[in-house]
Amino acid sequence: MTMIKINDPKKAESLQITTNFSGKEFWCNHCKQLLIDENLVKKLQQLRDLYGTGIIITSGYRCPTHNARVGGSNQSLHKDGKAVDFIMAGRHNAFQVFTEACKIFGRVGLYQSTNNPMSAYIHVDIGEKGTWWLSYPISSGSKIKRVYAYYKSLSNLAKAVQEDKQRDWLNMTI
Ligand SMILES: [Zn+2]
Ligand SMILES: [Zn+2]
Repeated sequence: MTMIKINDPKKAESLQITTNFSGKEFWCNHCKQLLIDENLVKKLQQLRDLYGTGIIITSGYRCPTHNARVGGSNQSLHKDGKAVDFIMAGRHNAFQVFTEACKIFGRVGLYQSTNNPMSAYIHVDIGEKGTWWLSYPISSGSKIKRVYAYYKSLSNLAKAVQEDKQRDWLNMTI
């Protein structure tokens, strides 16, 4: 497993990792330090090849400072360069993309957006295999809190999606 670690943003910018992904797409949004697992990028390329449209990385590596700022968990794999959040270029059915991502990655989360209940984004990482989850915002007092529901099987997740009367998971776009 190869980790790519580059502290010079100029070098990261010119680094082409796979056909469609370059270093700067994964650097920390706050300090441009890059730490990313090459295997993760290769898997993203597989998904990219399947759809033939762009994958827009909204969060790749997060240095500890940035991770704390965005309220990321202390165990977040974004801190290790082993996780990515993304949306797609153009409109796609989010649940369908999630399902395809689950065939490539062992851990995938589908997140209902905070701003628009009919849009979503996806987290993928290459931690230990076998966990899938749904995440959605709820308002608690004046604050917005995120709820996470974890599933050990995709069929259980699919069942939860069907039974959820509050959120229209099957028609969200990404
Ligand atoms: Zn940073
Ligand atoms: Zn994430």
